[in-house]
Amino acid sequence: MARVAANRVPIIVMGTIAAASALVAWLQELRRSRDDNDEASEPPCYVRGMRERDYIRLIPSDELQLVKALLSRVYKARGWRNEEESRAHAWSRVLATAQSSDGGAWQLDFDMDKVNPVQLTLLCAAVEKCFLGGLLTHQIRSVRRPPLKVLPGEDPRDPYSWLSGLHDDNTIFVNANRWRESISAENPMNFEGALCTSKLEALAHTLGHELVHAVVLNFFPAMDAASAAYLPDDKHGPIFMLLNKRLFGHVGHASQRLFNVR
Ligand SMILES: [Zn+2]
Repeated sequence: MARVAANRVPIIVMGTIAAASALVAWLQELRRSRDDNDEASEPPCYVRGMRERDYIRLIPSDELQLVKALLSRVYKARGWRNEEESRAHAWSRVLATAQSSDGGAWQLDFDMDKVNPVQLTLLCAAVEKCFLGGLLTHQIRSVRRPPLKVLPGEDPRDPYSWLSGLHDDNTIFVNANRWRESISAENPMNFEGALCTSKLEALAHTLGHELVHAVVLNFFPAMDAASAAYLPDDKHGPIFMLLNKRLFGHVGHASQRLFNVR
């Protein structure tokens, strides 16, 4: 028995070594597969065309919390009951105000060469009041930044840029040469999901788009400067997409905004 037991010692040792090697190999494999999983679960990059449920996950939780808190304040300030219906009424209100003498006496099919900065600033103020409840104007005043100003003409930063552009000093340039075409019920424009049947309506929506940039610039300057959830796609990343949708009902993508239906 003693001799048999002695023969078994190396077998037991060899068996233990083999088991230990197998354990090490298994642990290495486990670690490798965990690393692979970590890589697979990394958040994807923002790409145009993402659905809200996908791009919203790309917004860091602290930034999303700030954005949601602001949205709650805006919802409270504008006091809408039915999102769709109230939004449609709000656009109608903007257009009615704009056509009144106090709102700039706008024509639906205005001649861009005759538009002045006061008219544009009044139109922007009407959009801000109806859709943001005056909160942006209040914020700009309380952080002592320059008031919103809208200028017709050419954006000195980029004369060939899109319909309009916001500068860091809260000036919005409306690119006159992009506003020569006529827009009507027969030749409407799809502006980020909103069908516009007049040039004035399209301009109001355009200013809404710029107001989203102004909201980020004046409420969240740190996001405006550095957020990986705002900066992609020339500042039309997930934070822009979310605010543009929730504030103005705009969907779609900044660079595919303008086309004539016919
Ligand atoms: Zn934009």
